[in-house]
Amino acid sequence: MRYFAERLFDGKTFKQNQLIIVRNKKIVFIDQGEPDQADVHLSGLVSPGFIDVQVNGGGGKLFNNEPTLETLQCMSEAHQQFGTTAMLPTLITDDFTTMQSAANAISAAISNDMLGIVGVHFEGPHLSVPKKGIHPEHHIRKITDDELALFARKDLGQVCVTLAPENVSCNVIRELVAHNVKVFLGHSNATAGQTLAAIEAGAQGFTHLYNAMSPLTSRAAGMVGASLLDNNTYCGLIVDHEHVDNVSCQLAIKCKTPQKVMLVTDAMSHVGSTQTELQFAGMDITRTGNKLTIEGGRLAGSALDMATAVRNTVNNLHCPLEHALQMAATTPAKFLSLQGKKGLLAEGYDADWTVLTTDLHIDSTYIAGNNVYNRTITQQNQQQGELCKH
Ligand SMILES: [Zn+2]
Repeated sequence: MRYFAERLFDGKTFKQNQLIIVRNKKIVFIDQGEPDQADVHLSGLVSPGFIDVQVNGGGGKLFNNEPTLETLQCMSEAHQQFGTTAMLPTLITDDFTTMQSAANAISAAISNDMLGIVGVHFEGPHLSVPKKGIHPEHHIRKITDDELALFARKDLGQVCVTLAPENVSCNVIRELVAHNVKVFLGHSNATAGQTLAAIEAGAQGFTHLYNAMSPLTSRAAGMVGASLLDNNTYCGLIVDHEHVDNVSCQLAIKCKTPQKVMLVTDAMSHVGSTQTELQFAGMDITRTGNKLTIEGGRLAGSALDMATAVRNTVNNLHCPLEHALQMAATTPAKFLSLQGKKGLLAEGYDADWTVLTTDLHIDSTYIAGNNVYNRTITQQNQQQGELCKH
């Protein structure tokens, strides 16, 4: 199939009048061309597809509540309409049986080549109780051989684990990294010293920087201070204007650069759905506008989607568009060691892209050369109700 893009961002620079030829799910040619050479005209700005490393749910389904293949399909479809072409479905702290069910669902999705699923993110259960957020305290626990063996499975795509380094030793972090697990630090009260020691042991990133972690203060730099100081680690950032102040977001991007900041949604089931109420682990999570809270007002994940995260980053953080798109696509691809496959639009890369309108909404999304979302068709179908009704 041949595509023509009037405007394109390839992950590095903006280009015009590009001909893209796709064969066997890959881009086999991309260069200057003419409209009449193409079968399909992509109207808008073509960008590498967004990659979200923290997604708890979508389309009305939460991965923890229904850790099944059907939920993964629903989540992937829900987020495709917001430009996401690859994601790590994320399991919040839960019992071991649920972790196993989640892993088995991911394994089935990977072996079936389900579009959009590239691994799994276990957020917990080895976290800090004082920084638990909405993670159920009775499931927060020390790591055992059972969890280690689960994290080391080779049939799950890229495995990421969020842990609190004050509760998991550097030796265990080294062991996880040796098994090709990406270790995120978060939900943690660690000192800056403990954090830097965990980085030394191989931890590669920070989960939702600033949120649920020891803050930067004058006499204690905390996990936030250590993260901002370190040049090599990545961090997820929730740019929904509920989780992090705009100035704090700008500071993170300035310190860590767009090459190390990843836009994440931390989305619950609400994205791509009209749902307002959600039950999780005995808690009632209520959506008010774009804010999700439990009783008492504590934030409970987000209703953010990647396209909105990109718009917020450009419009309210005054970040150049190329940096916002890199933080949504190119940087997470690098973090996940998907260089050569995803994050850029170049020959040999997967044919994963999203097409943005001038006001940065999504016009269409392609994964492995498949047109998985088209705004015009979806608008026609919207009267039929929610996207997923499995
Ligand atoms: Zn969290």
